[in-house]
Amino acid sequence: MSSSTYEVLNPATEEVIHTLELATLEETDRAIQKAAEAFETWRQVAPADRALLLRRFAAAVDSDLENLAQLEVLNAGHTIGNARWEAGNVRDVLSYYSAAPERHLGQQIPVEGGINVTFNEPLGVVGVIVPWNFPMPIAAWGFAPALAAGNTVVLKPAELTPMTAVRIGELAREAGIPEGVLTIIPGKGSVVGERFVTHPAVRKVVFTGSTAVGKRIMAGCADQLKPVTLELGGKSANIIFADADLGEAAAAAPGGAFDNAGQDCCARSRILVQRSVYEEFLGLLQPIVEALNVGDPGDESSFMGPLISAAQHRTVSGYVPEGSPVAFRGSAPTGRGFWFPPTVLTPSPGDRVMYEEIFGPVVAVVPFDDEADALRLANDSIYGLSGSIWTRDVGRALRMARGLESGNLSVNSHSSVRYSTPFGGFKQSGLGRELGPDALNAFTETKNVFISTRA
Ligand code: NAD
Repeated sequence: MSSSTYEVLNPATEEVIHTLELATLEETDRAIQKAAEAFETWRQVAPADRALLLRRFAAAVDSDLENLAQLEVLNAGHTIGNARWEAGNVRDVLSYYSAAPERHLGQQIPVEGGINVTFNEPLGVVGVIVPWNFPMPIAAWGFAPALAAGNTVVLKPAELTPMTAVRIGELAREAGIPEGVLTIIPGKGSVVGERFVTHPAVRKVVFTGSTAVGKRIMAGCADQLKPVTLELGGKSANIIFADADLGEAAAAAPGGAFDNAGQDCCARSRILVQRSVYEEFLGLLQPIVEALNVGDPGDESSFMGPLISAAQHRTVSGYVPEGSPVAFRGSAPTGRGFWFPPTVLTPSPGDRVMYEEIFGPVVAVVPFDDEADALRLANDSIYGLSGSIWTRDVGRALRMARGLESGNLSVNSHSSVRYSTPFGGFKQSGLGRELGPDALNAFTETKNVFISTRA
């Protein structure tokens, strides 16, 4: 099979910034084979040495932070402020998990006639499949704990956004991570991604992307009983009670819904507002949305950049056809680039914008009556990834948090993902958890060994 190429665009200008060689099936197989060979030595590296190499890798990312950030502005249209945070997140995730190899403890379990100890054995080659919306952090959330646990990793970035992943792979080598331990394989989902699923030497697949593809990957992995971690779509609710600080809730709502141009699996794309303050809240939100600075993502003052692609622009536009219940909108540049203005809808019950993940800067605002009504509306979704609760009543905040079918909630804030806390979804938002203190358990098998002490 001959290799094909892919033209990588700057979404803010539509200019071609790179022509990428896409890996063939044979190239993918060779990379997986090399990763399987590298596993035999990587798993033997002493925990303190593995830790040291991960710290050096973190330092290499840190010293290249500005370059990585600028690459992401160019390739993904992320604002420079966000892109710096994302590159810093890769460094921080590596630093956090560099402490793990020496702390990944087993157990000693009381049994009769001897002792029983458990070992956390690495799995082998782990395949990580990354989407285009947060290319750097999502890659690191997979590879950092996997490497710390003693696995080797093959990683496929999204076709649209391969640039930072390729650079991170180079930085790993420069930091002394041995060849074959972390291999970046740019290519198509249908070729490279599917091969991670079917190749018997790949012992686990970590997939972040759409729910449709995630289901397909899970079905494919079932054939070899291959474990999967799935981080999928979302339709999260931002629930605002009448007793909340409405000014703060309104000021924060655009960040919760429109950050990264709404291309965020955790986007709070449904705002539920208690009926008694519904009009007041919309009145507070309107001037804020209208004043959002949408423009050149390289400009420090930009709040939001473009959508990732023409296809994504078509998809998002399809949710706001002529005659849509648009309450108000912000502005966006015209001309070249995949620009879409922040848009606030006030839909009727049952409207598809309340149920489908739009993955663009479009938010629906609807009223609710009481706690029970808010829970019913918020949980009326196939998804359950994220969400926010705004209230001054601590008891209510906790009742709501316990009642919501969602993996990651924040009260009086729209917290972003923290590397030190578990992240993942309920229902069709995914399976398994990433990050936090227990992430290595998702990259190891537990082995128990009994040692007889009988004389
Ligand atoms: P996508 O599912 O189209 O693609 C994701 C990745 O999977 C890409 O690298 C793609 O090449 C690959 N892929 C596609 N088909 C494949 C196949 N048959 N086998 C193996 N790999 C395949 O998703 P996308 O459009 O890149 O990303 C957007 C989606 O990702 C949204 O639904 C969003 O909610 C979700 N997402 C979820 C999280 C989370 O943590 N829950 C984070 C970011 C994005």
